[in-house]
Amino acid sequence: MPADFHTHTPLCHHAIGSPEAYVDAAIKQGLSAYGISDHAPVGDAYFDDWRMLYDKMPEYFSWIEAAQKHAAGRIPIRAGMECDWLPNCQAWIEKLSESYEWDYLIGSVHYLGTWDFDNPKWLGRWAESDVDEVWSRYWKEYAAMAESQLFDILGHPDLVKKFSHRPHGDLARYYEPTIEAIAVSGCAIELNTAGWHKPCAEAYPHHEFLELARAAGIPLVISSDAHAPEEIGRDFPQAIALAKAAGYSETLLFEKGKRSSELL
Ligand code: ZN
Ligand code: FE
Ligand code: FE
Ligand code: ZN
Repeated sequence: MPADFHTHTPLCHHAIGSPEAYVDAAIKQGLSAYGISDHAPVGDAYFDDWRMLYDKMPEYFSWIEAAQKHAAGRIPIRAGMECDWLPNCQAWIEKLSESYEWDYLIGSVHYLGTWDFDNPKWLGRWAESDVDEVWSRYWKEYAAMAESQLFDILGHPDLVKKFSHRPHGDLARYYEPTIEAIAVSGCAIELNTAGWHKPCAEAYPHHEFLELARAAGIPLVISSDAHAPEEIGRDFPQAIALAKAAGYSETLLFEKGKRSSELL
């Protein structure tokens, strides 16, 4: 099974499980590597209730070390973070990237302005929004995140469909300009299986996006976005089938920022 580079820890306040339980689950799933990528702090003060605090970073490093110790060479453990793409975040991301010897960083668009649109707490705001306008903003931010060159992996493309708000017509009009920006950036995208368990009931991204990404030469990783040990590597056989149907034959591996690939 491919590596799973997108997984969380209890430090973000909405995931459960011990490092030992995640390692055991990763080994049981036969993954080629287990990557830890919790929600990164935004600034050194409180920002919202679904990420680790900056002063908890030493605990995060200990969590990673405990996973490495328990794995004892049975599976490679990789360390990263899922960072939020926010206005003027560049200096902060650079500071975070220097704070540890990361194997990779994931960039994710969860916020449009001050609205974390994927948070079920603010579902009411979707009802008041123009879906086309939200999608336009989302994909523009996604392209800008790729252009920033701050991240190795771009997280869950098309998360904006999470609660099944989709504009009418062919969605390629949203996908194409962003795919062009991602292809130029050289960043990898992820095929994130968590979407299958959300109201949208589809992996992120949609297979049409995946086909366009493959045609544009964008590299891929497959991720579970696990928030519990039993979710690690979840639905990877279906994800592999989807990736292959889109024309992919390999996924990327990351170690200290260096890339290699493994066959699907
Ligand atoms: Zn999360
Ligand atoms: Fe996310
Ligand atoms: Fe995540
Ligand atoms: Zn995520």
